Amino acid sequence: MAGLSPGAGSSPDARLRQALKTHWGYDDFRALQEPSMTGVLAEEDSLVVLPTGGGKSLCYQVPAVCMEGVAIVVSPLISLMKDQVDSLRECGVASAFINSSLTTAQRIEISQELRADRLKLLYVAPERLCLPATLDLLETTRISFFAIDEAHCVSQWGHDFRPDYRKLYQLRERFPNKGIHAFTATATERVRADIIEQLGLRDPQVLVGSFDRPNLGYYVERRDQLMEQMTAVIDRFPGQSGIVYCLSRRETEDLAAQLTALGYPARHYHAGLPDEERQKNQEAFIRDEVPIIVATVAFGMGIDKPDVRYVIHAGLPKSVENYQQETGRAGRDGLPAGCWMFYGAKDLVTSQKMIASGPPEIREVAEKALRKMVDYADGVACRHRMLVQHFAQDLPTDCGEGCDNCRGDVDLLAPEVALRYSQMIVSSIHRQNERFGGQYTAKVLAGQPDDRIEQNGHEKLTTFGLLKEFPVTVIQDWISQLVAQGFVRVGEFSVLQNTETGRQLFKAIGTPRLRVPREKKTRIRKSSVRLPFSREGVDNGLFEELRTLRLQLAREREVPPYVIFGDASLFEMARNRPTSTTAFRTIKGVGEKKCNEFGSTFVTAIRDYCERAGVSADVTPAEAPSSPRSAEKATPEKSGPNASTARAYALFAKGASIESVAAEMGRAVSTVTGYLADYLRSQRVTDPAPWVDAATIQKIHSALEELGPVDRLAPLHEHLGGTVSYEALKIVLACRRNAEPDA
Ligand code: ADP
Repeated sequence: MAGLSPGAGSSPDARLRQALKTHWGYDDFRALQEPSMTGVLAEEDSLVVLPTGGGKSLCYQVPAVCMEGVAIVVSPLISLMKDQVDSLRECGVASAFINSSLTTAQRIEISQELRADRLKLLYVAPERLCLPATLDLLETTRISFFAIDEAHCVSQWGHDFRPDYRKLYQLRERFPNKGIHAFTATATERVRADIIEQLGLRDPQVLVGSFDRPNLGYYVERRDQLMEQMTAVIDRFPGQSGIVYCLSRRETEDLAAQLTALGYPARHYHAGLPDEERQKNQEAFIRDEVPIIVATVAFGMGIDKPDVRYVIHAGLPKSVENYQQETGRAGRDGLPAGCWMFYGAKDLVTSQKMIASGPPEIREVAEKALRKMVDYADGVACRHRMLVQHFAQDLPTDCGEGCDNCRGDVDLLAPEVALRYSQMIVSSIHRQNERFGGQYTAKVLAGQPDDRIEQNGHEKLTTFGLLKEFPVTVIQDWISQLVAQGFVRVGEFSVLQNTETGRQLFKAIGTPRLRVPREKKTRIRKSSVRLPFSREGVDNGLFEELRTLRLQLAREREVPPYVIFGDASLFEMARNRPTSTTAFRTIKGVGEKKCNEFGSTFVTAIRDYCERAGVSADVTPAEAPSSPRSAEKATPEKSGPNASTARAYALFAKGASIESVAAEMGRAVSTVTGYLADYLRSQRVTDPAPWVDAATIQKIHSALEELGPVDRLAPLHEHLGGTVSYEALKIVLACRRNAEPDA
């Protein structure tokens, strides 16, 4: 599992590209990855700000592979460390983590690996890193550089300040010659400046990426029949992963139960759950054992799951920052994903109450943040643009198709009607002396007097009842939309005031936009969950089979399925249907190690599928995405899968070893191992002797006696101290299974 040798003589770019391809199976860098990685190689300090899913991890993982020594990665979350290390190991990158979950023996082993210079990356939690013993250990270690993940935790202006991060200033003092690289998705200037100062970064290269996430679709709807609205979304992604965010703990439990009862398996997650249950539910989601997690904002940090296909907000988030973070968890793999928000007028009141009962020093900021969130929700401009503008960036053009507003999902009133209604609203606000809130104003306009209105004599205003054909809630929505467009502002104590542009409306200057009110009881329009989600050319049947295979392999190894392959890779496999390891190696996300380890298994599964389904294999990428028909037209390999399998089977029947079959057929050992797995299963072979030596067979049998029945290979592999390969384990277990009476 060693990394690449630094490749003396080749350019930094070539070395990085080679490592990217060899270990991760990717051909191209994402935006800013290349300058970031080159900076790391040049041993300059840096601060990299990229949105969630932007590919920050690779910015330090790839250079770590190319450099001498071990990169120390500071990461705040223990759960995340394990998944990251598992992923790296699957990519053939020697790495480890040190945190409180390790036994003393495991810690000693890692110290030895460090001393022997065998690791390329070491993940450490900040509190542990700053212990004298760890710092001493690192001083005797050959270090390539330090990477500080989630670097905003260093700043008390960030949303997740962690006092332990403050101690990281020691790194600069103790390791003055090593590069320090900070990574965060938090954009504010203040936090950035704080990170640079707190970590003592020297003249750092600062790289700030675009905050737009073009692969996400943003949709906002009024909440009326939440279950129906949610299931309309979930139905779009059968069996795929999604997160539902709620405002309260209670609601997470209720919604998860309701969804499950309706046949949409879901678990809930919130900070009030016992640690064990929370952990269990999170794991079930990450490991694809349950597709839906219904959670409060407590869920998410430390979730690296790349294939979350949708995020639903069942209520109004507290701020645009929260919303950006939470929706950011969708589609990290770069594939299309959707973000739906269903919110109601009540949410605002609930959040305002929560703010009022919270610490007084943050009230003003929290209220402002909430107001911005409402502006976004009610806004009728391009949502991608509204979001990046919030982070002081802009887009050259509107998204066109990636949000409800651009797609025209939102019906607007005719401009002259919108202007007339808006004039009525600003006029009423004016006549009420700008001293009343949204609901009050809406009631005046709807002509629904209450005690307060009568006390104030406002039932006599000329604006009273001007919009009486509309319900109060609709008028309130329009007021919110005018706020979002800057015609009205919400002042202290939530009173409405007209802005300068609002006052211009009296003179018919300005073009306010108001939504057509949705009729009560209208069912959610299916069009609103239309997605730019192209599966063109993907064989869905094959995709599902590959997902099942991935899940099975992941369970054996006790890692999340995405660690084996991401959905993007599976889609490409289900498009191109490679039936040789050479073709398999060209799939994005298939590096050298993964190809050796999983190539034959996947290729065999693909070949089997093509045979069963009668579809052609080895579709060239150029024809693959065009249409499913073109895939059918593709010519099969000359010596088709049938012929190869039959030939291998005949040789296995004679007791030929994997190596000799590989040599005779001119195929890779990994491919032939796949044929063997099939052969054992289909022919119900009970004796593994021709393929595994007697001592190893004995060792496996003894281990099984000690352990009892196992449904995963990982514990067995571990029990044997890693001395027996997974392939040998599989062969022996397959034969044992075939020998069982009901096999
Ligand atoms: P971040 O840490 O910025 O949220 P990650 O580093 O987790 O993002 O990357 C998100 C996903 O994108 C991961 O699945 C990763 O493998 C993938 N990815 C990163 N860089 C590339 C690349 N150059 N090509 C293809 N996929 C990439």
